Amino acid sequence: MKKLLFFALFALWGTQALAAVNIVATTSSMGMLSRTVGADLVKVTELAPPDRDVHTLQIRPSMLQALRQAQLVVSIGAELEQSWLTPAIEGAANPKILPNTNGYFEAAAQVSLMDVKTNADRSQGDVHPLGNPHIQLDPVRMADVALALAERLAKLDANNAARYRQNAQQFKADVNAKMPQWQKLAANSTGVLLYHKDANYLLSRFNIPLLAYIEPLAGVPPTASHILSLVQQFRGKKGVILHTVYQGNAGIAQLSQQLGWKHTALPLEPANNSNSQAYFKLIEQWLTAAH
Ligand SMILES: [Zn+2]
Repeated sequence: MKKLLFFALFALWGTQALAAVNIVATTSSMGMLSRTVGADLVKVTELAPPDRDVHTLQIRPSMLQALRQAQLVVSIGAELEQSWLTPAIEGAANPKILPNTNGYFEAAAQVSLMDVKTNADRSQGDVHPLGNPHIQLDPVRMADVALALAERLAKLDANNAARYRQNAQQFKADVNAKMPQWQKLAANSTGVLLYHKDANYLLSRFNIPLLAYIEPLAGVPPTASHILSLVQQFRGKKGVILHTVYQGNAGIAQLSQQLGWKHTALPLEPANNSNSQAYFKLIEQWLTAAH
């Protein structure tokens, strides 16, 4: 009897291990969402470290290997990862994860985007031709992405559809429960000067004034004259400068010094292999730094 039970358990464990959906997430926020919705029904590999600019990531052999075995790619989308993800997917030659199949998921395609342009213009070097792709710091949009991701996982693994939907609903409920606390944390900000258009969704969600950008155009580094014009525009006023760890630029230090404004470097992504609690902490970090 004991032996039989052991074999039954082993068989169960065996089918569960086989059933885990193999997900490759481009970033750690997408990995967090995949893990939150998929729980023990998925296996998640994250491609980008949280301190890198996801606009321009280098393709590594380990990425191709992960993509070769993937059943689902979860990306931020709206061309954010295009420069490396498209060739990486082509290089992996895995028909399951090609764009326009059930194995390819873009978070940005599930929600409304800011800054959508009617005719995409890349000629000036704008790296956001389809609208602002950096949706991951908006927890409300992320909750909607979680619901959409649950539906996608339900298509790939119909037997566990109810569990995916339940996990996504739980994430949405957790976000809703946190909102009053976050709104309190965001209140009375004097305003934020961003380096890149990468925290717009967060600022907009929590009604934090967005003063200007250090980049004259998304992806284009500031000239000395652009920095000077920002100094002239904001001299004598209050605000803070928020940027990411990889935007270490002389212009930031110069602005901070000349305006007397604090500047803080923050990641746009939680640590690799994070859970939702770590993501919520990242939101709090940004909201706290906006003062
Ligand atoms: Zn960008």
